[in-house]
Amino acid sequence: MQTRRIAVVGGAGYIGSHLCRLLMSQGAFVECIDAFWFGEESIRELHGHPRFHATSCDLRWASGLDSILRGCAAVVHLAGLVGDGACNIDPNLTRSCNYDATVELAERSQRLGVERLVFASSCSVYGCVTSEGEGAHEDGETAPLSLYARDKLACEAALEAMASERFHPTSLRFATVFGWSPRMRFDLVANLFTARAVAGEVIRVFGGTQWRPLVHIDDVARAITTVLAAPLRQTSQRAFNVGSAKNNMRILDLAQLVSQVVPGAHVEGVSDAQDPRDYRVDFRRIAQELGFQPQWRIEDGIREIASQLTQDPIADIGDARYVNEKTTRRIWQEEQAAREEVSCK
Ligand code: NAD
Repeated sequence: MQTRRIAVVGGAGYIGSHLCRLLMSQGAFVECIDAFWFGEESIRELHGHPRFHATSCDLRWASGLDSILRGCAAVVHLAGLVGDGACNIDPNLTRSCNYDATVELAERSQRLGVERLVFASSCSVYGCVTSEGEGAHEDGETAPLSLYARDKLACEAALEAMASERFHPTSLRFATVFGWSPRMRFDLVANLFTARAVAGEVIRVFGGTQWRPLVHIDDVARAITTVLAAPLRQTSQRAFNVGSAKNNMRILDLAQLVSQVVPGAHVEGVSDAQDPRDYRVDFRRIAQELGFQPQWRIEDGIREIASQLTQDPIADIGDARYVNEKTTRRIWQEEQAAREEVSCK
């Protein structure tokens, strides 16, 4: 049997570096494509593996990718500027990295005969949909509050319009992810609260009544491989929320949970909500149609992060390596400086 070749774009990132390992453990050949904005450390140990190959490439200039994408059964597209803060730095940079590069990657993949494209969308497309009952669902109202979320919806629509007999896009709307990854992020709420608690710092919660769905990184990776293995008729041109009803939580309750799991942690409520996102999400479609069930409870993810940080402490969780907005600002500044240098010549 021929080994399935899967391109993971953004494969060195928080989700991508975990997904590469899962796909390889399932026997796939992984083509990891990334601009390595957070470095290569997360995939270093994979180099030399017979079913792994990495390419350094910025998707905005992806013409060199043809020989890599040709022969791939699927592309999993995880690359882009992530989060509201990072995307608000420069709308032009965001548009080119998130929308334009996605459409270009999809067109290229389609032209080269890639059958499936799985796009990493986000539950933040629901913005502040305070639906009653089970929560916001895939065919219901969306209310994106940020450029990040609006671009996710625009990408979903563009990909859906490109679907054909030979090209099958799927959008996965991930809940906010938590858990340990070879490329760690401490700008994600559960990871950040846990790291603060382990460091003996106060967990400061702004507002706190907002609902936020959470999902463990391993469940996200398994959701992606579930889609890749499902019959095309079940996934083509479909959007699926990825998470579980059990892990829909209010931010203040999450902070309290961290303080119960990590001894000595202290929570302080601050009345002003800085983040207006507030959504509870319905995750029944992926369970009913694809049989996918998340395995991780939030408290187990908190224990996992606390144990990793206790065994191997990180000196500065606020370093740009762990915070997307800071790294995006660095990239933006470097690109501005390069442009100014060219215009001065
Ligand atoms: P991440 O920042 O860790 O990973 C993104 C990777 O893409 C990085 O390695 C970066 O170097 C690479 N990249 C960015 N722009 C690129 C470009 N122009 N060309 C090539 N590579 C580029 O983020 P993540 O948390 O792994 O998120 C992956 C995807 O999942 C994103 O699309 C994000 O919007 C989506 N998502 C994430 C979460 C979450 O909580 N982590 C929730 C919902 C949706």
